[in-house]
Amino acid sequence: MIRVRELSKYYGVTKAVDNLAFTVERGEVLGFLGPNGAGKTTMMKMLACYLPPSSGTAEIFGFDILEDSMKVRKRIGYLPEKNPLYTDMDVRSFIEFAARLKGVERESLNGSVNSVIERCGLGKVWRRKIGNLSKGFQQRVGIAQAIVNDPELLILDEPTIGLDPRQIIDIRTLIKELGRDRTVILSSHILPEVSQVCDRIIIINNGRLVAAGSPDNLRDRLKKSSMTNVRIAGSADPADAERIISSLDGASVIRIEEPVGDGSALITVESSSNSDIRNALARRLIEEDIPLLEIYSEELSLEDIFIRLVTEEGDA
Ligand code: ADP
Repeated sequence: MIRVRELSKYYGVTKAVDNLAFTVERGEVLGFLGPNGAGKTTMMKMLACYLPPSSGTAEIFGFDILEDSMKVRKRIGYLPEKNPLYTDMDVRSFIEFAARLKGVERESLNGSVNSVIERCGLGKVWRRKIGNLSKGFQQRVGIAQAIVNDPELLILDEPTIGLDPRQIIDIRTLIKELGRDRTVILSSHILPEVSQVCDRIIIINNGRLVAAGSPDNLRDRLKKSSMTNVRIAGSADPADAERIISSLDGASVIRIEEPVGDGSALITVESSSNSDIRNALARRLIEEDIPLLEIYSEELSLEDIFIRLVTEEGDA
């Protein structure tokens, strides 16, 4: 289990991480989500014992990152955002080199190297020079060096940045697989990344924790309002419809799309999340002789929620 206690980091006067506290269960895949500059890299560097905190501390599997940093380092694998590879080396030599640095025993060295080559899908390229591999394969090499000592915790900083869509899918699949038998903490500024791979998400902004929970849980909990779209026929005046809709309790019109083609207009209505206003809306419009063509609700996506959260924070 990982316990982060009031961790802060200043770079001069810049507060990069501000009093963060959270826990991670063994076996969990945790995603750090936040816009660029939110403090994700700084947080991960501190957990990986690459950067001392300004205040606070963290305990990783019972060892303190400050007092027992060597013991922590032995138990983790870390892939920094800028994957540091020796591009002139071949894949196998590099992984072997990383294994030696991490103190993998001589007797188990070959077995460990072969095993990560296999697990990370490097079986066909292990003889090749790293510099000649695609970015996707280079990222696999980066992950392979991070797991060669079979760490209990794997820390991946923006593991799919700069990859093409196919490579992104491959790396996500690999991360999910690796997460089956270890704890993984990964960071991303892209929401689908964490919502697809992680059991739990921690959203940070300006170094502070904004929200935490499973992707579904966050979606439900943070949904403050819901959207309903109403299409009315061109024979009606959208202004009339707007007046009628606005008179309904808890409903407000946020957008009227200009009539196109058949002359119909699409009106988007926002209402508080705990009431489904479709029935009341339809009744009122029909009562008032507004020709209603369709009505449907629009789910607020996790993406919308994320943008709202970080914008509200930024405005505060
Ligand atoms: P993220 O990984 O979420 O993009 P970072 O942890 O890299 O965020 O950065 C958090 C904040 O700290 C940013 O404002 C960034 O400019 C600042 N920062 C990061 N590294 C340094 C550094 N070495 N020196 C000064 N400021 C830094």
